[in-house]
Amino acid sequence: SLTIGIVGLPNVGKSTMFNALTRNHVLAENYPFATIEPNTGIVPLLDKRLPVLADLVHTQKIVPATVTFVDIAGIVKGASEGEGLGNKFLANIREADAICEVVRAFDDDDIVHVNGKVDPSSDIETINTELILADLQTIENTLPKLEKELRGGKVSKEFVAAVNAAKAILESGETIDHAAAAGKIVKDDILDLHLMTAKPFIYVFNVDDDELQNDELKAKLSASVSPARSIFLNAQFEADLTELDEADAREMLADAGLEESGLDQLARVGFDILGLQTFLTAGEKEVRAWQIHQGWTAPQAAGVIHTDFEKGFIKAEIVSYDDFVAAKGSMVTIKEEGKLRIEGRDYVMQDGDIVEFRFNV
Ligand code: GDP
Repeated sequence: SLTIGIVGLPNVGKSTMFNALTRNHVLAENYPFATIEPNTGIVPLLDKRLPVLADLVHTQKIVPATVTFVDIAGIVKGASEGEGLGNKFLANIREADAICEVVRAFDDDDIVHVNGKVDPSSDIETINTELILADLQTIENTLPKLEKELRGGKVSKEFVAAVNAAKAILESGETIDHAAAAGKIVKDDILDLHLMTAKPFIYVFNVDDDELQNDELKAKLSASVSPARSIFLNAQFEADLTELDEADAREMLADAGLEESGLDQLARVGFDILGLQTFLTAGEKEVRAWQIHQGWTAPQAAGVIHTDFEKGFIKAEIVSYDDFVAAKGSMVTIKEEGKLRIEGRDYVMQDGDIVEFRFNV
């Protein structure tokens, strides 16, 4: 399954956030390299539609979609040259499908900052520079071989040109993800290089809890990484939330003026940047959110439930979540009102589709 690697300088709150994400209690210590082994956490994707559906179809069982996070050991300056846990760090990050960069924006004199002061932009630059240098290394290692292959007609001129364009972007200090968002390069053209900075990035700014509503600060921080997505949370606040039961957690969120927890936002945005979406099934046995890739067709989606469903696919019977709720879950009403759609092989699945597949066995 697809994974999101959590990276960041030491002492920025990665472990605190990761533990809260998984409600694990791995030690979070106040010194660099507290998180040595990469840890994997499978996080349910909050979906407010699921309990509503469960109520309507009278089931207790809800199966949400999930997002997998990997907590990757802290990066330091020089990591691309093997400094600290550099090589291990890079290997772990290569395996991830997206990067969640945690950036310290909270003040706390008791907690050592590796670079001596809290400066989000400089921290982002430190981390991204290491990733950029590692990517440049990858390109420099490949280019001589590529040029030989070009002469032998084994690779296209266009590909070598794209690799050189990527090199120039990295040399200017920009990540490929950022450059691609600005239309300077097409990621698909250099897919074969498996560059780290070509992965989708989300930035998580770990801010003081009394800054969570500071729109000016948030606008400034998000502008510094735009058009990449940003999330603002307070890792300690999130950790405290996970200690509470649901009612108390809701109250604590409301008191802080928040509608949803930072972790729920992170899971949602993470799911989205991985290129995933869900479709729903609602039966007496269970209500479930199934995860598929954005743009998948009905037979591909059917295959996620069972390979036989894809092979023997006949049609998909689909009702939208809103129509299902309006009809109080009654298929009779849904049919009477003409809200049941019959979709064929070419149908591209939409978020909120409640589906029943018809297939031959
Ligand atoms: P990591 O090295 O990035 O994994 O950072 P940790 O999660 O281990 O956090 C480092 C230290 O900062 C720990 O003592 C945490 O309790 C503390 N910490 C983490 N998040 C926050 C926060 O939002 N506010 C404050 N004041 N301290 C935090």
